[in-house]
Amino acid sequence: MDFNRTEFDRTLEEGMREAAEAIVRRCHAVALTGAGISVPSGIPDFRSPGGIWEKFDPMEYATIDAFLRDPAKVWEFFVELDELLLGAEPNPAHEALARLEAIGLLDGVITQNVDNLHRQAGSKIVVEFHGSGRQLICPGCGGRRYPEPDMQIPPVCSCGQAMKPDVVLFGEPPRSAPWKRRRSWRGDPGS
Ligand SMILES: [Zn+2]
Repeated sequence: MDFNRTEFDRTLEEGMREAAEAIVRRCHAVALTGAGISVPSGIPDFRSPGGIWEKFDPMEYATIDAFLRDPAKVWEFFVELDELLLGAEPNPAHEALARLEAIGLLDGVITQNVDNLHRQAGSKIVVEFHGSGRQLICPGCGGRRYPEPDMQIPPVCSCGQAMKPDVVLFGEPPRSAPWKRRRSWRGDPGS
């Protein structure tokens, strides 16, 4: 047992040293993150036991077709997701990536997560491949707005269509805006 633990530590330490050397040697370093980085922040991986897909069948609650068919039903899932993300704080892994960016060793983060924890930790260049829950979007006209406390559920756009959080549902393409950012990756992050 002890031997295995020591072996594990040695492998981990070696891996970390290699990663650190690669980052220092690099021309461009970017971090690609997924659900695992937010698990220590208290957000269970959606697909793991205890994850949100155990309660909400994604085919019933997380496809764009399901949303267009019955927005109120899919909002039950969004409300639960919001509660799950609400209390979460960035953990040392998010903070370390923000720090690496701040000292010029990391160009940015590409994430599949919709929890906003990279930005909360202080990362400035964050490509949210699956969107984020910070804004609402209208699937009808593309209109956006920020959610308000005590808003009507589902929120309705001025065009009459129910709005959804700006997260990518199954059946929707990944956000295109992050790709456009590549051109200004090293410069103006605002476009
Ligand atoms: Zn609209």
